[in-house]
Amino acid sequence: MVAVKDLPEKSSILIDSREIQYFIRKSKRAKHLLLHINCNAALEVVVPFRRKITLKEIEKFLLEKKRWILRNLQKAEEIARKASRRRNFLLFLGREVPIEVIESRRKRAAAMPSIGKLIVKIPIGRKDLAAKAIQRFYKKHASKIITHLARKNACKMNVSFFRISIRSQKTLWGSCSPRKVLSFNWRLIAAPQAVVEYIIVHELAHLKHRNHSKAFWRTVQKYCPDYRKYERWLRKYGDLIKARTDNC
Ligand SMILES: [Zn+2]
Repeated sequence: MVAVKDLPEKSSILIDSREIQYFIRKSKRAKHLLLHINCNAALEVVVPFRRKITLKEIEKFLLEKKRWILRNLQKAEEIARKASRRRNFLLFLGREVPIEVIESRRKRAAAMPSIGKLIVKIPIGRKDLAAKAIQRFYKKHASKIITHLARKNACKMNVSFFRISIRSQKTLWGSCSPRKVLSFNWRLIAAPQAVVEYIIVHELAHLKHRNHSKAFWRTVQKYCPDYRKYERWLRKYGDLIKARTDNC
């Protein structure tokens, strides 16, 4: 007889000409042999630690339960396939970046850029936390990129602002307060960079002209000659950007 502690951690068995790998999990609490399919769609046999048991007995048990095993493995594999198909895209600076959602043992969800994609790590079974993590990613990067572009363009235009505020306005892309606080909608970061820069130049131009007079538009045109094209772009795709950033 083999002591339970000497059993291998992993083995495989032929069931209806299909080789099925299984893990052997030793449990102090289990009283009988038990079957379990884990979150990676793999089969586990739970073995009571106290009983003496051989690999032959485990195999006999697996063959007795072959219907249950095949049915439940198929179900689990189907769920895993669907989850991997749920990969979607993030709109970022006008590009579609693939999103890959990965379950991990961490407690909080977090989105992090990787080569050619955005990886969203979520706690096991908490797909609902992915959207919030993506929004945090958007806001953080919107703040960094918009601040950088605002400083660069302010320098060119010879104006100065008090600070940048990143907000969640439903209708506005940007605004400029009398106290020289420039506010921008974080959703803007989904648009191409040229469009983002146009909105920044527009708000910076308000530091010179607090209206939409001819003089104001002349300033905008000086620093952003194609501004009409970007205005059209926002009219055409603005709603799409809002929808895509709200439901990613
Ligand atoms: Zn304006």
